[in-house]
Amino acid sequence: MTVLAHEDYAKDQSFEADIVVVGTGAGGAAAGAALAEAGHYVMFVEEGSYHPTSSFNPYTTQSVPRLYRDASATMIVGRTPIPYVEGRCVGGSTVINGGMAYRPPERVLAEWERITRSSEMGVAGLDSVFQEVEQTISANYQSEVSVGEDSRIMEAGAKKMGWHYTTNRRNQSACVGANNCALGCPTGAKQSTLVSYLPRAFARGADCLTEVRVEQLWIEGGRCVGIIGKSINPQTRKADRKVRVRAKAVIVSCGAVQTPLLLQKHKLGRQSGQLGKNFLCHPNAKVLAVYPQKVDGYKGVSQNTQIREFHEDGLLFAENFVAPGILAAYLPFHGSRAWELMSRYENMVISGVLVEDSTSGSVNRTMLGMPLVRYDLTKLDHQRFKRGVKLLASMHFELGAEMVVLPFTNQHIAYTRDDLDKIDELQTDVNTLELFTVHLMGTARMGSDPATSVVNLNGEVWDLPGCYVADASLFPTAIGVNPQVTIMALATRIGRRLELSARAA
Ligand SMILES: Cc1cc2nc3c(=O)[nH]c(=O)nc-3n(C[C@H](O)[C@H](O)[C@H](O)COP(=O)(O)OP(=O)(O)OC[C@H]3O[C@@H](n4cnc5c(N)ncnc54)[C@H](O)[C@@H]3O)c2cc1C
Ligand code: SF4
Repeated sequence: MTVLAHEDYAKDQSFEADIVVVGTGAGGAAAGAALAEAGHYVMFVEEGSYHPTSSFNPYTTQSVPRLYRDASATMIVGRTPIPYVEGRCVGGSTVINGGMAYRPPERVLAEWERITRSSEMGVAGLDSVFQEVEQTISANYQSEVSVGEDSRIMEAGAKKMGWHYTTNRRNQSACVGANNCALGCPTGAKQSTLVSYLPRAFARGADCLTEVRVEQLWIEGGRCVGIIGKSINPQTRKADRKVRVRAKAVIVSCGAVQTPLLLQKHKLGRQSGQLGKNFLCHPNAKVLAVYPQKVDGYKGVSQNTQIREFHEDGLLFAENFVAPGILAAYLPFHGSRAWELMSRYENMVISGVLVEDSTSGSVNRTMLGMPLVRYDLTKLDHQRFKRGVKLLASMHFELGAEMVVLPFTNQHIAYTRDDLDKIDELQTDVNTLELFTVHLMGTARMGSDPATSVVNLNGEVWDLPGCYVADASLFPTAIGVNPQVTIMALATRIGRRLELSARAA
């Protein structure tokens, strides 16, 4: 295995491979591993740097700029604006994600089967590849001792309210509950692609060019034959030397914002007009409860529970205890009031409401080559958020919370259940709702008809032979649960299909 970095590209350089895979996150790593294991010489090209497990630490100011795109300062514009984050490092967003490992609900796969007119996209068709993914990333339940008190409070709350909840399977092996998942797992327990799929691909001869941003596809005679990018200095983020890789096929796995951005450079997806459309994001709103007793949510894994009682209505409740630096940025106050609230950090349960999109947005390439991501929340989803926040905050009060920090710019804190009754009266404008998101999907949707989709069911771009997509962009609809397992399953399938067609050629 060779992993090259910026200092290794002494001059403009060209490489050759059987398959070049752009991006090493959930999709790229899974597709690349499938192809490397089938005997192809795979070269990954990754914009971010390689950070081994031993380098991960809890220091936000060091970890966020190293692991997150634009140090997490990325924003969806619209009614209401939504900050989003993605990983930019070897392993992509799987390095910084929460490790929840879910298949989509059966109703979603039934819909995919209907939309794509293929039983391969349904519950039975995808079952074996889901099993394979779950085994590869070790999707299993936490050991009792590793579970944090905030997760136990959520479970107790669900029981008290008589709500259905699930215990999460997470992609971890011997997780000690250090709860540093969002800044890189320092023990290697979380089976991000950095420690699962990528080592498998490297063991079969794959190489990785890191700190190279792919800027365009290399197209000859109407076929994609490689990529052209620039090496990026990790200190200054300036692009300098040209890097080209020629290959028999290119897999684009840059995530649901960067993948359409790259394909839009070549004006692809013309027939359907769907490239960059169908942007889905599972928006989230925080509901932060402060309890009289110590919760010490930083001890033990936080994301062990999901409350599913209202899932059929598009609502999911979950907890996610984050580092103090990240939390402080999302609090409604400044100065002494912020300090006062942060001093209750040990008493907090940081929970949230996730809404399954009832609409979609778009990703467009601007004149400067940057993405413009747009999304306007619907009235239905605004109502869902208000309902979800009231329900979840009521649960915390039922368990004895002293106060609940709400996700509204004009209504920061509820001290009693009565305060929640004011939500309907005060929250009439969607712009007062504060959201964030970490699940980006759908912008190069797959399908069996070039008039309505961007790629076919093998992942190949309809109007560019030799160019494949294998990442969250493929989703025809939102899935309502955490997406990494589904992305890995679709990408594995695409890698396998590509290997079959490469063999037949
Ligand atoms: C904080 C956080 C928590 C999450 N929690 C969960 C969870 O608990 N469970 C779950 O299932 N999902 C979770 N997710 C979502 C999940 O991690 C992502 O949906 C998934 O990783 C997306 O896979 P992907 O292959 O589409 O993109 P990514 O994993 O983001 O990978 C894309 C890669 O492509 C690289 N890239 C982009 N553009 C270029 C370019 N032009 N040239 C070269 N390289 C490029 C990027 O640097 C990146 O490494 C979370 C995400 C985040 C950010
Ligand atoms: S809780 Fe700690 S040990 Fe477990 S996966 Fe997260 S970072 Fe790794």
